[in-house]
Amino acid sequence: MRILVSNDDGIFSPGLVALAEVASEFGETIIFAPDFEQSAVGHAITIKRPLQYHRVKLMKGFEAYRVNGTPADCVALGLFHLGNVDLILSGINLGSNLGSDIWHSGTVAAAKQGVIFGTPSIAFSQVLNGEEPTYEKQKPYIARVIKLLTSGNQPPLVNVNLPENPKGICWTHQSVRHYNGKVVESEDPNGRRNYWFAATPLTNPDEGSDRWAIDHDLVSLTPLRMSLTDDEWLNRLTGQIIES
Ligand code: MN
Repeated sequence: MRILVSNDDGIFSPGLVALAEVASEFGETIIFAPDFEQSAVGHAITIKRPLQYHRVKLMKGFEAYRVNGTPADCVALGLFHLGNVDLILSGINLGSNLGSDIWHSGTVAAAKQGVIFGTPSIAFSQVLNGEEPTYEKQKPYIARVIKLLTSGNQPPLVNVNLPENPKGICWTHQSVRHYNGKVVESEDPNGRRNYWFAATPLTNPDEGSDRWAIDHDLVSLTPLRMSLTDDEWLNRLTGQIIES
């Protein structure tokens, strides 16, 4: 099996090497990752300037390339360079990607880009507690997830979130009840107003959701689909006359 590994935290993220280490148990592993952090860029692609990629030396001797672009660019260029690969892995993101985070996550976007190009893809993100992650507790679970999702008849796009102390694995749905971003205003030394998105703690996630799984120390596996069409509404509306 040939595996392309990418991320949105950049080529020197410790989570990237940790994921590549697990991936290499399953096959030939090649890394294409952004040359600087691209968190929260979503599925942006670069069209107004040229892209380049360059070989870099990484820990553990992985074949790795840095790209002057977004996570989605990295996957596109990686597939251009390599031809077909069997699996694309993105992460391990430094922080979870739960609920509404999926909309702006660069980690998930790299996996989506893989699926657009026809390759099964898995996004991995890990809850952080303020300390440098070691990934030792998570690595066996990552291996179990890769084994499961490459065993045939599995969803082609899965968003995986890893808790600090995993005790099991479960399938979940995306939590859409809440949004945890709020705008915080501050003032800089020159008296100018600045604005930050800040996370606010959420309570009572719905049972069976990605957020609920993390609260229960379970590795969350959310199958995602590429179609954004609201089929329920479309079925209700199809055939209705639209008056101008
Ligand atoms: Mn990130």
